[in-house]
Amino acid sequence: MHTASSPANKPDHPEQPLSLWHATSRNRKDRPRLETELDADIAIIGGGFSGLSTALHAAEKGLSVVVLEAEIIAWGASGRNAGFVVPNFAKMDPDNVIAHLGPERGERLIQMAAGSADLVFDLIRRHHIDCDAQQSGWIQPAHSPAAFEKARSRAEQWAERGRPAVILDGQAVRDMTGANDYFGGWMDKSGGVLNPVSYARGLAIAAEAAGARIFEHSPVRAIERTADGWVLVTPSGKVRAGKILIATNAYGGHLDPILARTYFPLKVFQIATEPLPISARKRLLPGGQCVSDTRRNLFTFRFDAENRLLTGGMHVVGPGADERVPRAIHTRLARHLNIRHIPPLAYSWSGIAAVEPDFLPHLVDLGPDLIAGFACNGRGIAMTTVMGRVLADWAAGSDPRDLPIPFAPPAPIPFHGLLKHAPNMLLPWSMLRDRLDERAAS
Ligand SMILES: Cc1cc2nc3c(=O)[nH]c(=O)nc-3n(C[C@H](O)[C@H](O)[C@H](O)COP(=O)(O)OP(=O)(O)OC[C@H]3O[C@@H](n4cnc5c(N)ncnc54)[C@H](O)[C@@H]3O)c2cc1C
Repeated sequence: MHTASSPANKPDHPEQPLSLWHATSRNRKDRPRLETELDADIAIIGGGFSGLSTALHAAEKGLSVVVLEAEIIAWGASGRNAGFVVPNFAKMDPDNVIAHLGPERGERLIQMAAGSADLVFDLIRRHHIDCDAQQSGWIQPAHSPAAFEKARSRAEQWAERGRPAVILDGQAVRDMTGANDYFGGWMDKSGGVLNPVSYARGLAIAAEAAGARIFEHSPVRAIERTADGWVLVTPSGKVRAGKILIATNAYGGHLDPILARTYFPLKVFQIATEPLPISARKRLLPGGQCVSDTRRNLFTFRFDAENRLLTGGMHVVGPGADERVPRAIHTRLARHLNIRHIPPLAYSWSGIAAVEPDFLPHLVDLGPDLIAGFACNGRGIAMTTVMGRVLADWAAGSDPRDLPIPFAPPAPIPFHGLLKHAPNMLLPWSMLRDRLDERAAS
């Protein structure tokens, strides 16, 4: 088995892949480190989906763009996720978003999210990105009758906005997923799956084709304000730019300590089995969708292009977690999908996802022409891609207050040092509540 996690979240050995996706992606391209001084309209810190989508869209507008990545493209969450393309918000339904942001701002954000998966698959087609993409749909099965009622309402709210959202009864969920213990669910047909590292690398290549300059192994050590703009300082170079985007998500470390206190850094584990026999695909996900259910302790699964079965989730972290958790997740996969002879674990890895207190995308106002963009919340592929298009409008001159994503100064979470562990620590409570739901429904 390839294990790609360590306490520092960095492989212990250079031969170890960061994830299944780093091991299996084909379009790797080496890029230089920054060893000079450059000028740009916008300089972007971070080479994940957020930074690369912004770079692509800004370069296509004719702006000069520089991306600085501390490691390699897709080194952060963009290279460690599950590859689910999901065009909605993790916890908020459209009605909640309207209640939270008001009708005008709320509806603009909803419309942005609604088209986010279509944007991902359009970009893949337009730029011929070879990333095993399938716009096969995203399914959310319900683990209890109450969760099915919520799922039904969620589907109706998206369908009212013209989205391809369909309600699935219990039999439909069983036929489409091969899992027997669900009460129904819903599907957004515009979602789907891809290989996220191949997708990120494809975005980088497309951005470069549009004129962006991308540097790897170029960590930004300082962001300095000057009379006519900003300067980013790396160990061996500088970039002067009118606008700066911080697109480091949960991997920003000490770049801005206040920013690091505005989100919950969630450690998420992923595994992939050895390939399943083709015959198993007749029962499990014959349509190639991805699945995230309604449990509080989320259960997810999909296949990759080589028929490996993938799943993942949160866990109580602590000593030995990197060895213990993949085995526990593997056992859970076999149990939920009723697979008697599950193939052995082939890959395990983990990553950190930045989760906002309200589970919505945010633009953080850090000073004139300096923004940090957060659109993760477990829906990062679609949401960061569309955020990049929005940020390119800002780079081209739009007032950030007019963008569809909420824009405000940093709002540090009180007692962050303690509370940042809460999502992982509260997991046993979530699991207990899931079990009580299931018992009540049986
Ligand atoms: C295990 C896991 C599973 C997930 N599954 C899914 C999924 O299936 N679907 C989905 O939609 N979302 C998923 N997500 C969320 C999704 O992966 C993220 O939302 C998304 O990748 C965030 O992209 P980003 O570009 O904002 O940040 P990142 O991809 O984290 O990129 C930040 C980059 O900034 C760089 N950086 C940091 N500091 C500096 C510096 N000082 N100078 C230069 N560069 C720097 C880092 O090296 C890194 O490459 C998952 C997340 C995790 C962790």
